[in-house]
Amino acid sequence: MAKARALSGIQPTSGSFHLGNYLGAVRQWVELQESHDTYYCVVDLHALTAGIDPAKLHDATLASAAQLIALGIDPQKSTLFIQSHVPAHNQLGWIMECITGFGEASRMTQFKDKSAKNGSDRTVVGLFTYPMLQAADILLYQPQYVPVGEDQRQHIELTRDLAGRFNSTYKEIFTIPEGYILKAGAKIYDLQDPTAKMSKSASSTSGLIELLDTAAANTKKIKSATTDAGREVTFDGVNKPGISNLMTIHSAFSGASIADLENEFADKGYGDFKSSVADVVTSHLDPIRERTNELLQDKGELTRLLKVGSEKAALVADETVRQAYNAMGLIPRG
Ligand code: ATP
Ligand code: MG
Repeated sequence: MAKARALSGIQPTSGSFHLGNYLGAVRQWVELQESHDTYYCVVDLHALTAGIDPAKLHDATLASAAQLIALGIDPQKSTLFIQSHVPAHNQLGWIMECITGFGEASRMTQFKDKSAKNGSDRTVVGLFTYPMLQAADILLYQPQYVPVGEDQRQHIELTRDLAGRFNSTYKEIFTIPEGYILKAGAKIYDLQDPTAKMSKSASSTSGLIELLDTAAANTKKIKSATTDAGREVTFDGVNKPGISNLMTIHSAFSGASIADLENEFADKGYGDFKSSVADVVTSHLDPIRERTNELLQDKGELTRLLKVGSEKAALVADETVRQAYNAMGLIPRG
């Protein structure tokens, strides 16, 4: 039997991924490659909605691909590619825009959050239509699963609605995908503001643990993470969001359960606990940073791998666009 397919993407909005990207998303991507037919892309067109500087975008795109490989995405097992190398994304993106209601798009909370931060004059239309391009990114490959963090739940719902709408209005073309969202670690919070998600495009990097940052810098950030009143290391997401976030991070790397951590640190304070978090985080990130830097030394090889990936991706994506165009009555060029 053919393997079920999974697809996901990450934006090159920063030179480095952060812990949320890894624990909420990429770690699952690596696991799924063993059991699924996996497609993973660096969604550079989405990063344009953040008004990113061209030189930064260029470097961040290559660094994103290198980090994915360093984290365990194997270009032999997965189809790894860059979104803008497959123009079918834009083609199906427009189709998705034409079947999405304006009100429906207006309800997307990520748009509301990001546009509220920027102000309406600095919010581009592309940020508004981003979820429709994302729906196209997914539906082009007919995946059964989309492994993402909790913050993407609403976008996956929209994608499912659009696929169903297209199928019932025109023709049964699209597989209706399911989000693949973990229970533990699916949402990592900012260390300085533990009520906001850790985000690449946050206005300050002081609350982000970046995978490519030095061990010393990350240790410092963990030690100065906002913690809560009290001194007990116990998990309480509502009253102790800061310490609970650090417990989630520790557990995700060390494999210790939350109960184990509560026992281990029962007689100790926040300071000892933070030192332990810094140790487990930095010991896991050191080899990833080194491997990423090695991969970035040979840009020719990295680009070659990405070209192979985009050629494989385009075969699937172009066929989906062909079917969708036909179903809508667009005349084939012949
Ligand atoms: P941006 O701020 O530019 O949107 P981001 O940090 O949200 O960047 P994305 O590229 O949008 O990262 O998302 C890549 C993947 O990482 C998605 O699957 C998303 O759900 C996941 N992700 C992002 N932030 C977190 C987080 N704080 N916790 C868990 N998963 C996350
Ligand atoms: Mg995001």
